[in-house]
Amino acid sequence: MNDTKKERLSFRQAMAYSRRGFAIWWRTAPEILIAAAVQRAVDALAPYLPLYFTARLVNAIAGGGEPGQVWTMLGWLLASTAAVAAIRAGVNCWDETMRHAHQFPAWNRIFFEKLLSMDFCDVDDPKNQALFTQIQQARQWSGWGLNKLYMRFSDAVGAVFRILGAIALSVSLFTLPVPAGSPLAWLNSPLCLAGMAALLVGSVALSGALSNKASSYWASYDGAAGNRGFSFFYFVAMRDRWRGTDIRTYAQDKFLEDAGKKDMGGETSFGPDSSIGRAGRGPMGLCAAAAQGMSQAFIGVIYLFAALKALGGAFGVGSVTQYVGALAGLAQGFTALLEIVGELRANAEYLKSTYEFLDIPNQMYQGSLTTEKRNDRKYEIEFRDVSFKYPGTDAWALRHVSMKFDVGERLAVVGENGSGKTTFIKLLCRLYDPTEGEILLNGIDIRKYRYDNYLALFSVVFQDFKLLSQPLGANVAAAEGYDRSRAEKCLKKAGFGPRLEELPKGLDTCLYREFEDDGVEVSGGEAQKIALARVLYQDAPFIVLDEPTAALDPEAEAEVYTKFNDIVEDKTAIYISHRLSSCRFCDEIAVFDHGQVVQQGTHDNLVEAQGKYQALWEAQAQYYQKSEE
Ligand code: ADP
Repeated sequence: MNDTKKERLSFRQAMAYSRRGFAIWWRTAPEILIAAAVQRAVDALAPYLPLYFTARLVNAIAGGGEPGQVWTMLGWLLASTAAVAAIRAGVNCWDETMRHAHQFPAWNRIFFEKLLSMDFCDVDDPKNQALFTQIQQARQWSGWGLNKLYMRFSDAVGAVFRILGAIALSVSLFTLPVPAGSPLAWLNSPLCLAGMAALLVGSVALSGALSNKASSYWASYDGAAGNRGFSFFYFVAMRDRWRGTDIRTYAQDKFLEDAGKKDMGGETSFGPDSSIGRAGRGPMGLCAAAAQGMSQAFIGVIYLFAALKALGGAFGVGSVTQYVGALAGLAQGFTALLEIVGELRANAEYLKSTYEFLDIPNQMYQGSLTTEKRNDRKYEIEFRDVSFKYPGTDAWALRHVSMKFDVGERLAVVGENGSGKTTFIKLLCRLYDPTEGEILLNGIDIRKYRYDNYLALFSVVFQDFKLLSQPLGANVAAAEGYDRSRAEKCLKKAGFGPRLEELPKGLDTCLYREFEDDGVEVSGGEAQKIALARVLYQDAPFIVLDEPTAALDPEAEAEVYTKFNDIVEDKTAIYISHRLSSCRFCDEIAVFDHGQVVQQGTHDNLVEAQGKYQALWEAQAQYYQKSEE
């Protein structure tokens, strides 16, 4: 469970990491830093004002001064208490609003901007996915990482203001002398001042160290694993609608509950017998208690010193509370600063993985040529001896693929599972670059074109496409504002017309019910039609359809084929399918086998030739004959 245990970084490195993290927050959401700093400063200074006036009031009463002075002080005390409470409430409200509005969105923005700007091959890399998951889990576990920095920054501001306020209120404890001749005049000796300073430093250092020791048990404890089990069990296994059917039909609940218990807390992760539970009863609890004890002992000594000075006549008895309160605040401020530094050190390990992720470089070459906007849509693509291995693997997913597509052609890509069809499309859309060989657009290596420009040439329906829980029309247009009549036309072309007419809100109907009670659940086949409409709406010169009819019923499938020419118009269409019967309308069929193109030709030619296509055709023929009937 402690497999992610971190090695300790040096203090300098830890502070450098924290500075960088702070700069990231400042760039992303300065408003929450300002609000948090003001809130903590006000919070830290707030107790001092009533403390000051209480001391004056008690001095006035105890000194037997004029009643007017007592009333004045009482008035000041009440007014300052009320003003401080009102200011605190206002500032708290501002800080809370800012925090809720910006803290998590800012964190998400930092990572999602990175994810979106990364080369797709790096997003797809399981190593980077694992790193990102680790960062997310550390945040969920105890706010480790960038989040901790934001939290501790505001605490540090609070501590600094607490120290400043305490100094302002306690200076006179040392400067006001006991009148000469008093038996307590020895309290004026510089040695007393030095002694108090030494005590302060000693108690702060010791209680800070003890409390850092106590929190280090939490810092080194990998609760993320427990949280992972907990979240999976309650939020994924139990609630996920896609898993719900499996859990019920296979009666997986007992099995999951047992598996979850092992990892979920209670029993092993956070329970009394967990390592953190034992530490709490043992060294961690002792350190925390000793730290508290040290602070209280220091306060006792200040009490004694201030009370003796008051007794000697250095100041009124009311000032004793002021000095004790102020010096206790001073010690707390310094202890808090020490704790913050300790926690920032522990946090630096988490920042390290955060930066490892944020610093993943973009390695794909980004060219600057624009793809000419050709009215004749004369775009010609050529794969020239292309081979490809997925990062971190040794097997060739594609090997020596050479192919040319003519404009307006319908190309079918067929082959068994794992033969390289989807990889071929991923290279075509430049989600990955070839390991060997090159892909050319109108005779120029596609790497030399601007990436966004090149991508705009393709609209693709991947096999595992996803629609959003957003209005139907917005899904088709992939935008909020769109051309309604065009969206409708595309839906009709894709065969969604009759269903569209049934929808009372038409294009404004929300898909799925995550956000809207009256959203509609669309079937797999309907979703595929919507995805097809999305392709048509985009009107790119190349359309790529990965198993576009896999979820359609035979009738709908037949409709797509008969209308295919109509749907695709003058575009170049690349079409991946397992079902050979659905490729017959294509001008050219490329047969993939173990990453290679083993045959190319028309359906009629390939069926005649002795080869892979014929073997696949024979194997599927019976099924097709049935479905055609
Ligand atoms: P098809 O689309 O024909 O089913 P793919 O192109 O998906 O085949 O896969 C071709 C080969 O590449 C397979 O051996 C598959 O296991 C491998 N492969 C596919 N995607 C990845 C990936 N992201 N990482 C590593 N290997 C992969």
